[in-house]
Amino acid sequence: MIVFCGGIGGALPDIDTISLWSRFDSTIGPFFHLPHQGVDIYYGNFWYSHHNFAHSLVGGLIITSCLFVLLSLLFIICTKTNGQKNIFRRLSVYWTALFLGYVIHLIGDLPTPSLTWGGIKLFWPLPAAIGGNGLIWWWNNYDIFIITAGCCTLNAGIIFFYHTLKKPFIKYLPLFICSGSLIIILHQIEQRNVSFAYEGYTERWWAYEMKSLEIQQEILGQRLYAIMENFDHKLSIYF
Ligand SMILES: [Zn+2]
Repeated sequence: MIVFCGGIGGALPDIDTISLWSRFDSTIGPFFHLPHQGVDIYYGNFWYSHHNFAHSLVGGLIITSCLFVLLSLLFIICTKTNGQKNIFRRLSVYWTALFLGYVIHLIGDLPTPSLTWGGIKLFWPLPAAIGGNGLIWWWNNYDIFIITAGCCTLNAGIIFFYHTLKKPFIKYLPLFICSGSLIIILHQIEQRNVSFAYEGYTERWWAYEMKSLEIQQEILGQRLYAIMENFDHKLSIYF
């Protein structure tokens, strides 16, 4: 459940991409009397544009808290556990997982290109955009995905066998694995030796796209790259 909450939290910041939804201009836009087309909202600098409020720490706190309260009420109503002590303390573990997943997504967006936003509004409502230096391409970062997936799998294994292992150091192991994974990810980013930095729009989009795939081929080797490419093509989202 904790891993699931972390995953949901990790996906939540991109709720602000809803303005690119094909039916946004005929449904959500008119409902909220928004004066702009969805595509202009997405690439714009409104608080509800991509990489703005929903990509900030304040946005993360508000969105995850709202979801947490809603789910907690649903949980209490459905399971009739309102008389139990410590129910909110137990549920707050899930909120922590939600929020941490959210923050990890924000950190992951920091090294992507500027595009029209200049980075992400991490400290919204302050207007400064953070990151956006194009150290990595928008997607095709298979190596980082593999490291992250490995980190999650190891930690899930520790949670699963926690009571069996019963070693005093075991509770520090997830922190060690997460720190190690972060160092390896930073190393991988450093290894790219290519700048994907651009502001606004770029005619080099496909050149960057191809270069990012070429880098992955070099890092992963043909066999692992083919597996990841196949996996990527099976997903209906950009990955
Ligand atoms: Zn994002």
